[in-house]
Amino acid sequence: MHVAPEELQAAAVAKLAELEGVEMKPKKRVAIPVQEMPAQDPLERCKNMKEVALGYCAEQARLEAMRCLQCKNAPCVSGCPVAIRIPDFLKAAADGRFADAIAIIRENSLLPAVCGRVCPQESQCQLNCTVGKILKDVNKSVSIGRVERFVADLQRESETGQVIPEIKPESGNKVAVIGSGPASITVAADVRREGHAVTMFEAFHKPGGVLLYGIPEFRLPKAIVKNEIDTLRAMGVEVRTNFVIGRTRKLQDLIDKDGFDAIFVGTGAGLPKFMNIPGENLVGVFSANEYLTRSNLMKSYDTERAHTPMYSSLKVAVLGGGNVAMDAARTAVRLGADEVHLVYRRTEKEMPARVEEVAHAKEEGVIFHMLENAVRIIGDENDRVIAMECLRYELGEPDDSGRRRPVPIEGSEFMMQVDTVIVAIGNGSNPLISQTTEGLEINRWGNIVVDENGQSSIAGVYAGGDIVLGAATVILAMGEGRRAAAAINARLTG
Ligand code: FAD
Ligand code: SF4
Ligand code: SF4
Repeated sequence: MHVAPEELQAAAVAKLAELEGVEMKPKKRVAIPVQEMPAQDPLERCKNMKEVALGYCAEQARLEAMRCLQCKNAPCVSGCPVAIRIPDFLKAAADGRFADAIAIIRENSLLPAVCGRVCPQESQCQLNCTVGKILKDVNKSVSIGRVERFVADLQRESETGQVIPEIKPESGNKVAVIGSGPASITVAADVRREGHAVTMFEAFHKPGGVLLYGIPEFRLPKAIVKNEIDTLRAMGVEVRTNFVIGRTRKLQDLIDKDGFDAIFVGTGAGLPKFMNIPGENLVGVFSANEYLTRSNLMKSYDTERAHTPMYSSLKVAVLGGGNVAMDAARTAVRLGADEVHLVYRRTEKEMPARVEEVAHAKEEGVIFHMLENAVRIIGDENDRVIAMECLRYELGEPDDSGRRRPVPIEGSEFMMQVDTVIVAIGNGSNPLISQTTEGLEINRWGNIVVDENGQSSIAGVYAGGDIVLGAATVILAMGEGRRAAAAINARLTG
């Protein structure tokens, strides 16, 4: 049931007053209720692109941080890919020292406002939280990400705003960063701080990577991403957009002709995978990437100001069960579809999407079809989608990923009437750079092979993020960027 943000705040104010002066023994801390995230009413938010989760108020942030038991072994820290000093920042937040809290987070993370929103916390820092273990429910762990988001937003929205890091004197070295997602943003900042000149090359007309073109506004406001890019620019990073490495200029030319001393490749995993079933070339079939890019980057939802054409859909089927599928389905709801069906061949338990995203999608009316999948898409005489033939599945033995394998049920074919199909079954790496760069080693999935420092098979060329890991997460991309930047800095100063 949706609770109004004012009610949540009032309850937090009252609880905090009740605890004033009370000695906070562990039992008392565990008894503090999990602070619910204030959110837009589902009936309202279906009609707008504004952020769904509204963020904690100060009282909620303090209360949530007070739930932390300050465990000596801090299992939460080992679950965070960049090892933020979680108990320390939570202690500062619990005391109301919010500036100290964000300073601690920023020691290890460059993008706390982003990670506080999109990190899959329930499978990372919050997975092994002692409070969650005591309460026997991972969803009752300390909401580390929500407190992180609160202190990051508070700093961004304060009068002083985001702090521009100090830059060391110019070193005379030049570094090229290819791509502008979280891995590249991290490298650009860490390398620039050491006084090296940094040029960022981005294929799209706006920088930000998936944070901009993939994750929708209602989950990650684009103003936050712009703020990070503005900080890079203020640090002196040159950002060149509409610049495709491998087409506009080859990677080797950056070294041989343009005099770059080191290169970081952070080109992500933007190549959509398809089902390879009949009818996938019909009008009305989209990759989730294209669908989301039209909406997020090209603002097709803003029909008054943007002139991006958008397919007008009434009944949409989204194929897949990850975050990308949830984002596509929830975008389709907001773009005005009457019905949005999410079709996944396993059960909800095996879905890779974040629990919160699944819950939000359901609240917004997305209809879930588990243990079903499309086998054929059917078009009319004009090759426009009119239906999808599906099969029902049951779960068999676990496969390589540890998830139980979906096994088709013979003779279970049925039809689903839809006019749009969005394929969201994963992304691979774009082969452009590897195909146009001699000597760049890739593995069988097309990902760039690197050593423990992020160095590729070509001296001075580093890589990280999804182009190395395959489609992964923002915080892992950031961690990879940190590692490669440290190696680049060592190379240039060493
Ligand atoms: P990217 O963010 O992919 O950026 C790569 C950039 O390189 C792009 O801007 C691209 O245009 C540019 N580029 C590519 N080729 C070239 C070239 N030849 N020349 C110049 N530029 C080039 N992760 C989470 O942690 N939580 C989530 O909730 C989440 N939701 C997601 C939702 C969607 C729809 C998608 C697609 C991904 C999601 N992810 C999520 C995954 C996460 O966004 C990625 O793991 C992360 O962005 C990878 O960062 P990156 O820096 O490696 O590359
Ligand atoms: Fe958790 Fe992500 Fe923050 Fe690490 S960066 S503490 S994983 S929310
Ligand atoms: Fe606090 Fe949970 Fe980390 Fe323990 S595991 S220090 S309770 S956040």
